[in-house]
Amino acid sequence: MKPSEKIGLRPLIPLAKPWMDEAEARAAERPIRSGWVTQGPEVECFEREFAAFTGARHACAVSSCTTALHLSLLAAGVGAGDQVITVSHSFIATANSIRYCGAIPVFVDIAPNTFNINPDLIREAITDRTRAILCVHQMGMPCDLKSILAIARSHSLPVIEDAACAVGSEILWNGEWEKIGKPHADIACFSFHPRKVITTGDGGMITTSNPDWDQKFRLWRQHGMSVSDTKRHYSDKVVFEAYTELGYNYRLTDIQAAVGREQLKRLPEIIRRRRFLAGRYLKLLETSVESGLPMEPSWARSNWQSFCVRLPSGVDQQTVMQSMLDEGVATRRGIMCIHREAAYSSFIKEQKLGESEGAQDRTIVLPLYPQMTGSDQDRVVESLRKVCRL
Ligand SMILES: *Cc1c(COP(=O)(O)O)cnc(C)c1O
Repeated sequence: MKPSEKIGLRPLIPLAKPWMDEAEARAAERPIRSGWVTQGPEVECFEREFAAFTGARHACAVSSCTTALHLSLLAAGVGAGDQVITVSHSFIATANSIRYCGAIPVFVDIAPNTFNINPDLIREAITDRTRAILCVHQMGMPCDLKSILAIARSHSLPVIEDAACAVGSEILWNGEWEKIGKPHADIACFSFHPRKVITTGDGGMITTSNPDWDQKFRLWRQHGMSVSDTKRHYSDKVVFEAYTELGYNYRLTDIQAAVGREQLKRLPEIIRRRRFLAGRYLKLLETSVESGLPMEPSWARSNWQSFCVRLPSGVDQQTVMQSMLDEGVATRRGIMCIHREAAYSSFIKEQKLGESEGAQDRTIVLPLYPQMTGSDQDRVVESLRKVCRL
């Protein structure tokens, strides 16, 4: 049986769909035919091209955004017993990466219309044990980095951007539109999971302006090996490697990187289409759910990795989602709240997280992918209107 038969195609408007074709398939062939399949020349090219795209000085490829976050927190000096300020309203990997360092996530509530951390609440969450701030560009919408950095700098705290969803998003910085990941804070981490904007199956990237941290990432992602296997392979002298500190196997493979390079070429067109479709959703829905629509601040340009709407009061989230599914439209509930999961039950909740909880309970994510047609989108809007009686 072919895997495609197992997954099966339902006559459904999916939530998301990666955009790949012959170009990616041919690219994956390159490393396979060359015989060098794990981290090697394709990874190196992908890193260079990604750095050029984001305007970053250094870009280091890793196996996922989760592993990117882990290494970034280690570089920022986060260790056992430290506290890291972040949001609960995020995918669980954001907080998990903090716990991998033995540190404690301290959750701050979000602003209701951008679904991003509310900078006004950060200061009161800072303690003597705070070691870093891990902010998230949720669903691709840039968070308020200017305000976050002002607070962080006044407390000498490093800031790491969880940009898992934000490849190609932009922020207005000193009068210029710049790509998320330059990075504007200290380190930015990206994901290439299929649910994100471009994909390598799984994969991640870390960008920074700090050459020492970049060297650390390269060392740690490959077992702490002093001389990489690629270097040894190409050397005409015998070289012995050493292992000077604890490392991990967080490599991206050359097969993935080859696919990523093709995805990167497609990225501007992907963003253009996503922004067009999001703009169309905003227009189609403005009369019915005006107060429930996501807001793009004047200094932000989202890649619209997800398009999230707040449901009118009096309608039940699960009922809306089921009725839309019955009409052939896939949706998801709003972003999860990490503090509500059993895996986090021992992390005592002192903070008020009402906006985060409201966003999880009262919003749904609508289908949005670059291949989506206008009539697909009309069907989504019609079914939402019908079930919500808008
Ligand atoms: C998807 C996601 C991650 C994890 O990315 P992986 O590449 O799957 O490890 C982390 N943070 C956020 C905000 C995400 O959406």
